[in-house]
Amino acid sequence: MEPSVGEWKSVAQKVIGLIGGMSWESSAEYYRIVNERVRDRLGGLHSARCLMWSFDFAEIEALQHAGRWDDATALMIDAARRLERGGADFVVICTNTMHRMADQVQAAIGLPLLHIADPTAERIRAAGLRRVGLLGTAFTMEQDFYKGRLVQKHGLEVLVPDDADRSTVHRVIYDELVQGRIEEASRQAYRGVIARLVERGAEAVILGCTEIMLLVRPEDSPVPLYDTTAIHAEAAVELALSTR
Ligand code: GLU
Repeated sequence: MEPSVGEWKSVAQKVIGLIGGMSWESSAEYYRIVNERVRDRLGGLHSARCLMWSFDFAEIEALQHAGRWDDATALMIDAARRLERGGADFVVICTNTMHRMADQVQAAIGLPLLHIADPTAERIRAAGLRRVGLLGTAFTMEQDFYKGRLVQKHGLEVLVPDDADRSTVHRVIYDELVQGRIEEASRQAYRGVIARLVERGAEAVILGCTEIMLLVRPEDSPVPLYDTTAIHAEAAVELALSTR
């Protein structure tokens, strides 16, 4: 029997608006995690109310590597507006790198944007940790939009790998992970990068690229790993089920 309108409304779930496809390999993880967490919280047949706009990542990657960030920002704003028109209650950008334009996206829509760095930093602080290593694309590790927020808003100290390690981490993301390739040699390379960050004093490492969790596991690190994909998706469910 069809539930009445009242019954639909009795499940107070906000609609999560996901900007995905960057890459779809990690967007699939977001989709799985938001649905699993809603089921954990509400039980039975419950699943997440969500919309996803999924980009053709080739378009995005070309703009990133050409440094055409204004064009990339326009595409991100267009995606967020599509989700707004479609009925999303808030927006989640399913990639760390494309938080480069999070402020512009937020300013262009009338919905809240749940920034990936915030729940990540909050968990690290809650664990009593302060000095973190950061792995991600070169854009995330080298530019200020991400590190700056961790430092200025959350009071973390952020270590990034040296030049050679940064280029390995970046290459593996674009040549392998976003293409669905999981290579044991690359996992070993990441283990080395993490070990060197720990030697320099990292108390934890942020997996600040949403595909790294496909490659690296907690056992690959002597310190806790903070997986931004899971943390962000879980924070989205918290917000979707909150009465705020
Ligand atoms: N998903 C990755 C990230 O979290 C990289 C792909 C992209 O450039 O968006 O940064």
